[in-house]
Amino acid sequence: MSAELIDGKALAAETRARVKAGVATLKAATGVTPGLGVVLVGDDPASRSYVTAKERALEEAGMRSVDVRLPEGTTQEELLAVIARLNADPQVHGILVQLPLPKGLDTDAVIRAIAPEKDVDGFTPVNVGKMLLGQTCFLPCTPHGILRLLEKAGTPTRGAHAVVVGRSDIVGRPIANLLTRKGPNGDATVTLCHSATQDLGRFTRQADILIVATGRPGTVTADMVKPGATVIDVGVNRVPDPTAQRGYRLRGDCDFEGVAKVAGKLTPVPGGVGPMTIAMLLENTLTAAQRAAEGASHVR
Ligand code: NDP
Repeated sequence: MSAELIDGKALAAETRARVKAGVATLKAATGVTPGLGVVLVGDDPASRSYVTAKERALEEAGMRSVDVRLPEGTTQEELLAVIARLNADPQVHGILVQLPLPKGLDTDAVIRAIAPEKDVDGFTPVNVGKMLLGQTCFLPCTPHGILRLLEKAGTPTRGAHAVVVGRSDIVGRPIANLLTRKGPNGDATVTLCHSATQDLGRFTRQADILIVATGRPGTVTADMVKPGATVIDVGVNRVPDPTAQRGYRLRGDCDFEGVAKVAGKLTPVPGGVGPMTIAMLLENTLTAAQRAAEGASHVR
C-alpha cells in the first residue's frame, strides 16, 4: 500500500472535543443544553445502528438527545405531528429524521416540515437553496465532513479537478456544489458522474480529487485512479463474510486494496467519512443551540 490513510476517526475526535468544549461554554454562559430530536421510524438494522451511534456521540458531547422511536406502520400524519412537536419544543435545537423512511411515507414532505433553523442535516429546501446561493446555512453533514477531511489531508481544492461519482441529494450533488464555490475549500473544477455516465474510468482517471458515493462496492478500481490522487470513499456497504463476527464486513465503494496502491491519499471504510458525518451533526446542533440562545435565527 502506498496511499497515506486519511484518519477520519482522529479528525472526528478532535472536532467532537471542540464541540464538547463549546457545549460546556454555552451551558455555563446561558444555561442552555443543546438538544437534538432524533426520529427513527421502523426497525431497519443499519438505521438503528446509525441512530445509536449518533445518540452516543450526543451524550458524550454533553448534549441532550430527544429520542422518538416510531413503529413501521406510522402514518404520514403521525410523523408530521411529531415533527411539529419537535419544531415547537424550545429544548430541541436540531431535528434529525433518520433516512430512508419506510415505504409509504413521503420523505420530501417530512423534510419540508422541519423548521429550517432546526434543520441540522441541511436537507430542507431553504437550507439547500441557501447553500447553492453561498449564504449562511447548515451545510449537510457528509459533504461538510468531506471538506474537512480534504483540508486535514492537505489536499488543495483550488484549481483541482474533482470528480464526484454519485448524484444523491445528501452526498453527490451537495459536495459537487460546495467544491465549485468561490473561496476556501472551493474553486475546484468539478465533474459529476452517475449511473448513466459512459466509461466512468475516463473521468475518474482525470481526478486530482475523487469522491465516490454510489453504494456499490467495487465501483472504483485501481485502474480508474490517477496516481497520487486523493480518494474519498463515502460508501458504507455490508458485504457478507462468514468469517466476520457479525457475518458481514463494512466495505466502501472503492476496491480498497487496489486503490491504495495507486492513490496518494485515501479514506478507509470504516474510519473515514462516517465518523466525520456524526461530528458535523454535533457541530451543527451546537451552532443551532448557540443561535437559539442568542435569540437570532440566521437561517430564516
Ligand atoms: P444513493 O443510492 O442515493 O445514490 C447513489 C448514486 O450513485 C446515484 O446518483 C447513482 O446514479 C450513482 N451510481 C450508482 N451506481 C453507479 C455506477 N456504477 N457508476 C456511477 N454512478 C453510480 O446513495 P447515497 O449518496 O445516499 O449513498 C452512497 C453511499 O454512501 C452508500 O453506500 C451510503 O451508505 C454511503 N453514505 C455514507 C455516509 C457516511 O456518513 N459515511 C453518509 C451517506 C451515505 P443515478 O442517480 O443515476 O441512479
